[in-house]
Amino acid sequence: MDLIGQLDTATLAFVTGLAGLLLAGTMAGIRLAGMRSGALVYWGIAGLAAGVAHLLAHLTYGFHLDLPRRESVALANALVTLVHVSLLAGVRVFLGRRPFFAPLALLAIATGAGGYVAPEAWQHLATRVIVLGSIYLVLDGSAGLALWRAGTTRHERFQNLAAAAFLFNSVVLVMRIVHALWFATPDSPFARDPFQTLVFVLGLVFISVLTMGLALLMFRSKELELQRLVHSDPLTGLFNRRSLFEYAQREQARSERFGTPLALVMVDIDAFKTVNDTYGHAAGDDVICDTALRVACSLRDVDTAFRLGGEEFLLLLPCTTLADATAVAERLRTAICEAPIPAIGRSVTASFGVSELLRGREDWESAMRRADVALYRAKDEGRNRVVAIAAGSGSLDRTATNDAVADVP
Ligand code: GH3
Ligand code: MG
Ligand code: MG
Repeated sequence: MDLIGQLDTATLAFVTGLAGLLLAGTMAGIRLAGMRSGALVYWGIAGLAAGVAHLLAHLTYGFHLDLPRRESVALANALVTLVHVSLLAGVRVFLGRRPFFAPLALLAIATGAGGYVAPEAWQHLATRVIVLGSIYLVLDGSAGLALWRAGTTRHERFQNLAAAAFLFNSVVLVMRIVHALWFATPDSPFARDPFQTLVFVLGLVFISVLTMGLALLMFRSKELELQRLVHSDPLTGLFNRRSLFEYAQREQARSERFGTPLALVMVDIDAFKTVNDTYGHAAGDDVICDTALRVACSLRDVDTAFRLGGEEFLLLLPCTTLADATAVAERLRTAICEAPIPAIGRSVTASFGVSELLRGREDWESAMRRADVALYRAKDEGRNRVVAIAAGSGSLDRTATNDAVADVP
């Protein structure tokens, strides 16, 4: 506490003001670096409001300026409320929700008007701390909890850092409210009082950690977006061929490490060229998307679907034997050929080639070639069917057909 007692509040206000401007500058810099999230604008406004509020306070108290008290308190309250309001609006935008900035900004004006509504009570710092502190507690608590709850595993570390900053400030606010309720509070927040000084120091910690947390969070989300773009196929949203190598190698390693089977299924839409020629390329694209969606919806969470190109897909099915994968493929074949596709007003069919990795004896690429051979065999035998080839035998393990479907031209 001695160290805290050495610090003077006017200087702390100056430093906190600079920290606020640093938050604003960091958000502006990230935006200039090419990120267009609206959250940056709100967080930038918060930084600017914090900077202006604290620097004005520094000028007022550091230089003993004789500003009209009620007006300067009103401006300070409105600006500080704007800080918390903008931070929450930014968090909401970041999480894809509506910012509710307009009604929240009205709150800032209302808090500024406090001194005019109840001039007597508002003169006491304790009243302002209890009333405004409770409002800030709700705003910061909401921001912290929203970020905490929405933390996905890949964002988690950075989202939790920002959430922790908000929750830390919520605890500080509870501490301030409790202190104002139970202990004598000086009339000015800038009085040379150890508790007030501690509040300034904790505020500085909050704004500094928050700046770091929000900046890291923005870069991480951009990084994830770029990763998603690099790994996904723009037409269907499935994984693309580029990501196949990485995934298949990892699944092979897992399969060998745990001694579990790994199945591969090649899928190719039948007579797709006819679809393009008859209904046009755009309708053909819709057929590819619709088929990809049906495939993706039928798979388990652990399975992965890749678009290899054109109307050709590969499925990686961990912990699945050749027989089970054949059953999965048969289910997919039915899902594809049974329901008509709106874009062309009829259904299409697809052929399937199935293989299972021979653990310890081949790599996944060799198993994929076998699935390809099985697919070609399915095409040769009349399409709209599933063919599986058992490892090592080179012979047909099982063939499932459905010749009753009439839509194969
Ligand atoms: P099969 O039953 O033997 O599979 O015959 P197919 O007509 O489906 O096979 P083929 O490989 O001859 O034709 C595939 C066609 O897919 C040729 C190509 O123009 C078209 N294609 C490739 N990529 C796309 C795409 O992204 N969109 C659309 N609409 N068509 C594509
Ligand atoms: Mg085809
Ligand atoms: Mg093809």
